[in-house]
Amino acid sequence: MQTQYLNYLNVQGIAKVTDFAQSFYYLACSNCKIATNAYGDGDFWCNYCAKKVPALTMIKFNIQIADATGSIEAAIFSEVAAEAYGITSADAIDVRKTHSIHTKLEHSRFF
Ligand SMILES: [Zn+2]
Repeated sequence: MQTQYLNYLNVQGIAKVTDFAQSFYYLACSNCKIATNAYGDGDFWCNYCAKKVPALTMIKFNIQIADATGSIEAAIFSEVAAEAYGITSADAIDVRKTHSIHTKLEHSRFF
């Protein structure tokens, strides 16, 4: 059986954070991964799982990707943040580290 590879559109540009007031993470249920409005990093009641579960920190923040032809808004989620940019949940939670997130994106220069 031959493996099929999907062809994705590749965009090369500069990725940067333009809104430092945004939240860089959200909390989710550690069981079903659905976002919650609970705050703090302790256990909370998940209405979907109908049980008390630990909160899981998920990275999500908005960026702008720009090249010589224009720009587009995009969102970075946990997997890409960690694998492509080395951004950890601790980086996303600590508002003092948001500038280092910007620096990591800026120095990558590719998306
Ligand atoms: Zn749940």
